[in-house]
Amino acid sequence: MTYNADVVIVGGGLAGLTAGIHLARAGMQVLLLEKHSYPQHKVCGEYISNEVLPYLHYLGVSIDELAPARISRFLLSTAAGKTVESKLPLGGFGVSRYTLDHFLARKAKSVGVALRQADVTDIQFANDVFTVTTATDQTYTAKIVLGAYGKRSQLDKRLNRPFASRESGWLGVKAHYQADFPNDLVALHNFDGGYCGLSQVENGIVNACYLTNYRSFKAFRNIESFQQQVLAKNPFLNDFFARATPVFAKPLTISQISFDRKSPVENHILMCGDTAGLIHPLCGNGMAMAIHSAKLVSELVIAYFSGKLANRTALEKHYTHQWSSEFKTRLLTGRIAQTVLAYPGITGVLLKSVQRTPGILPIIIKQTHGKPLLV
Ligand SMILES: Cc1cc2nc3c(=O)[nH]c(=O)nc-3n(C[C@H](O)[C@H](O)[C@H](O)COP(=O)(O)OP(=O)(O)OC[C@H]3O[C@@H](n4cnc5c(N)ncnc54)[C@H](O)[C@@H]3O)c2cc1C
Repeated sequence: MTYNADVVIVGGGLAGLTAGIHLARAGMQVLLLEKHSYPQHKVCGEYISNEVLPYLHYLGVSIDELAPARISRFLLSTAAGKTVESKLPLGGFGVSRYTLDHFLARKAKSVGVALRQADVTDIQFANDVFTVTTATDQTYTAKIVLGAYGKRSQLDKRLNRPFASRESGWLGVKAHYQADFPNDLVALHNFDGGYCGLSQVENGIVNACYLTNYRSFKAFRNIESFQQQVLAKNPFLNDFFARATPVFAKPLTISQISFDRKSPVENHILMCGDTAGLIHPLCGNGMAMAIHSAKLVSELVIAYFSGKLANRTALEKHYTHQWSSEFKTRLLTGRIAQTVLAYPGITGVLLKSVQRTPGILPIIIKQTHGKPLLV
């Protein structure tokens, strides 16, 4: 059997591009199918934990070239404007997805990844071979397929993933602004029904990205009035939106964001990044997890092709085990933190305890983050 590639990767966000670079550097034939062109803005807070830096360095990816904002402080405010601040145990950096994904895509091409713009509509597995079909009816075969197509796609329905048939009540909104905002700070400001992250990316631009439940948003159905009447009740957000000048013609939005449990292996496809599980954005760790899962899956795929793993069953078993032991607790902590923030009374009590014992906050933050990814 002749394959089009050793590995086909579906989706060229952070997980797909990182895995592509890792595998191509190990000598694999990698075909990456991404439905959009680069560069492209994405709904994302764009704060990335420094835990990914050693691994990116190993892959030959130098984030310094993008002149990111270096972020070392965290500020949390309640809807009423009460605050608590902490140093970030590991710190992070701010760079737009527009710049970062494009940068990684160029890097992927330079190390030999075949990158094609294609919307994947179907993935079938039979006789130990995958057949991947695109919207233009092009088909590709491969021994391994990585699912790195993000939070939600028609493919999830096609694969009968349980969460895909359930409605999800979360909406994400993001825009860039010119504003006076500290370049070393990531702030998370609560409002009724959600929270808004503020932090700098490259070139001193400020990203404002919020997640809200649809229950809170639906009475407005219009971002401007929602921001004026709900977000602006938080004095920090009121002040920010009053002073900031939008860079985008209008904010980007995404709906149907699901935090339901997913499985890291589905019909033999190895899922990574958000396709395997999405952590609540308030943790600021989704991008690091996407990159980390790309590392886990790439190392195991290399072991599989070199014969160090006996067969596909061993590959899938190891990946499921490693994925769960790395990320399950983080996802759970994210869910708990999200539930707490949904109740202003509990948030207020928690904030008071953190104010009394400031050492607690870095401990909570550590629970939602990983250790530096050493290779
Ligand atoms: C509101 C919000 C704020 C966030 N803020 C942060 C933050 O500040 N810090 C942080 O670390 N994380 C944050 N996250 C999480 C972070 O954005 C994700 O965890 C991260 O983008 C996951 O990367 P990924 O590669 O898995 O998916 P993505 O980046 O979504 O990439 C998936 C790619 O697959 C492509 N694709 C989809 N379907 C197909 C198809 N059928 N065929 C071909 N290609 C396809 C898409 O076009 C896309 O490019 C936030 C998330 C939300 C919702």
